[in-house]
Amino acid sequence: MRTDVLGIGFDNVDMAEAVERAQSLMETPDTDYVVTPNPEIVWLARKNPQLRQAIDSASLVLPDGIGVIYGAKILGRPLRGKVPGADFAQELFSKMAEKGQRLYLLGAKPSVAEKAGENIKKEFPGIVVCGAADGYFKEDAPVIDKINAASPDFLLVCLGAPKQELWMYKNRDKLKVPLMAGLGGSLDVYAGVVQRAPEKWQKMNLEWLYRLIKQPSRIGRAMRLPAFLIAVMWQRVRGK
Ligand code: UDP
Repeated sequence: MRTDVLGIGFDNVDMAEAVERAQSLMETPDTDYVVTPNPEIVWLARKNPQLRQAIDSASLVLPDGIGVIYGAKILGRPLRGKVPGADFAQELFSKMAEKGQRLYLLGAKPSVAEKAGENIKKEFPGIVVCGAADGYFKEDAPVIDKINAASPDFLLVCLGAPKQELWMYKNRDKLKVPLMAGLGGSLDVYAGVVQRAPEKWQKMNLEWLYRLIKQPSRIGRAMRLPAFLIAVMWQRVRGK
C-alpha cells in the first residue's frame, strides 16, 4: 500500500530498502521504472492526469525532498524519510560496480552525460558506462535503438519533470532495459556543472533554498512549494 500525499502514492521506504528493491527490479527482464516526485511534481500532477498515470505506473515512487515528508506528516501518515533521487542513484551505482553492471545516461545538454559518465566511472570503478546521450533529441526511435543496442542494466532518464516521467511511461514497452529512473538535474550534478548544496544545508533540509539562491530564475517553480503545503493543510482540515 502506498502513502497518499495529494493524490500521489509514495512507497514508504528508506534509502536502504529503496536500493534493495531497485536491485531486485534490475534482476528481472521486464522494464520497470522509478520516479522521485518532489512537491513541485506532486503539484503539477494535480492538473495533469497523464503525469499522474505515469507516476502511478512506476514500480517505485520515492519521496524526493523534505516538502513531501512534511506533507505526509501533516496528513498524519508519516513517511520514513526523504530519499533524494541523486543519492539513491549513487547508492545503486556502488552496488552495480560490485557486479560490473551496465549504466546508460540519457539527458542534459550535449557532452554533460559523457562528463557525468567519466566522473561516475572514476568514483565507482567496476561500473560499465555503456552509453551516454544528451536530452535534446527530436525523435524517440533512434535514441531507443541506441539504448537497446547498448543493453544497459540501468538507464538514467534526466530530461526534467514532467518530461522524463511521461517519456518513461510512453516508451517503457519499447525499451529493453530492466530498470530506469527519472532523475531531473542529476547528470548536471554528477558532471560538476551544477553544485549540490553543502552537506550542512542538506542536513538542515534547506537544499531547496540553496538551489533558489544559486538559480533565482527558479522562483516560479519554488512558489509551488508553499502552494503544495497549503493544499496539504486544506486536505488535512477537510479530514481526507
Ligand atoms: N533537459 C533535457 N531535455 C529537455 C529539457 C531538459 O535533457 O528537453 C535537462 C536539462 O538540461 C537539465 C534537466 O533536464 O539537465 C532538468 O534539470 P532541472 O534541475 O530543471 O530538473 P529537476 O530535477 O528540477 O526536475
